[in-house]
Amino acid sequence: MIYLDHNATTAVAPEAVAAMHQALDQVWANPSSTHEPGQAARRLLATARAQVAQLLGCRGDELVFTSGATESNHTALLGALDPRRLAQAPQRRRLVLSAVEHPSMLALAQRLRAAGFPVDLIAVDAAGRLDLDQARALIGPDVALVSVMGANNETGVCMPLTELAAMAHAQGALLHVDATQRVGKSALRFAENGADLWSVSAHKLHGPKGIGALVIRKGLSWPSLFEGRQERARRGGTENLPGIVGFGAAAERAARTLDEDIAQMAALRQRFESGLHHLPAPAGTVHLYGAHAHRLANTTLVRFGSLSAERVLLALERAGVIASSGAACSAGGNQPSHVLLAMGASPQHALCGVRFSLGRDTTADDIDAAIEAIHRHVLPLLQAEAAEAARFAVTV
Ligand code: PMP
Repeated sequence: MIYLDHNATTAVAPEAVAAMHQALDQVWANPSSTHEPGQAARRLLATARAQVAQLLGCRGDELVFTSGATESNHTALLGALDPRRLAQAPQRRRLVLSAVEHPSMLALAQRLRAAGFPVDLIAVDAAGRLDLDQARALIGPDVALVSVMGANNETGVCMPLTELAAMAHAQGALLHVDATQRVGKSALRFAENGADLWSVSAHKLHGPKGIGALVIRKGLSWPSLFEGRQERARRGGTENLPGIVGFGAAAERAARTLDEDIAQMAALRQRFESGLHHLPAPAGTVHLYGAHAHRLANTTLVRFGSLSAERVLLALERAGVIASSGAACSAGGNQPSHVLLAMGASPQHALCGVRFSLGRDTTADDIDAAIEAIHRHVLPLLQAEAAEAARFAVTV
């Protein structure tokens, strides 16, 4: 199997498996217990916190472990409109998000809008780049939170975070970044980023699923979703110690080779896109989204004519190549991608985005085999579609 779906999830690193095994098998006491086994668990928690903070470039006490990026995103959005914050700044009720946020954000924003909170979406252009002029116009003194992803999960296009932080802060608003796809694939660090809150998830960087973090800038007091004393009363509930130590070990491993991994993924992605470029496909039928935008090093979103992503993915999976439709997170992938629609794609083309996302273990052989599979199994479909279109054009 050639796995090119690392933006959906990644294999758990052996270091993370070993750390989790230890936490499940030996150090299983409650980190809040004052007895020695509890204190041993607490020490593991502290080590993991330092490892994750090191990768993210934040302080350990800025890190709150959560069940994943979905929970972190919800904590950020709901916290911004928490009655305690609104009591201090009743005029700040507006949320500004990008139109291409993850469904976990957009669905919640829609719910908040239905509850009476104004929500604005910043548009993107055909390459998936954020419209900064519109952002500037939308971010006013009534905005509580601006929330934008570090990089888009479908296209890999990176967002202009520094500019957005400046715009938000100039109006007294806060910036939340869903950094889920960015961490482990870019050198971006929280401390230098200007954002106030970051969401991250372990399973996108070879850690386990069901664990993530919300980074809360030092000095910012943030309402918790779950009451309880854990995580300095910022996230109640007994800590998921196996998940947390797995996250820590995965972060430590990621930080160790981050620069080389990014360089290798960039070179292989280049090899892949060059392979796509040289396919003997009918002119103009292989379309790369965001090709000239600033993108993550590992992601390619491509459309093959008007072939549905479903058809392409089936053909590729039969040949042992695993990719995904850009919209894998929404309803099994059979819905048009809201990201492609926001980029101006037709509803038909918004069903045709195929995402290839590389990982640090991807090899040149994997890339060559994927191109070969596209050549053998997708190209004939594309040629048949073009021939059909030509026949139709002659008949009518
Ligand atoms: N945000 C983004 C940008 C994502 O790609 C994902 C995962 N698909 C999430 C949030 C949700 O993360 P989790 O699975 O940890 O809840």
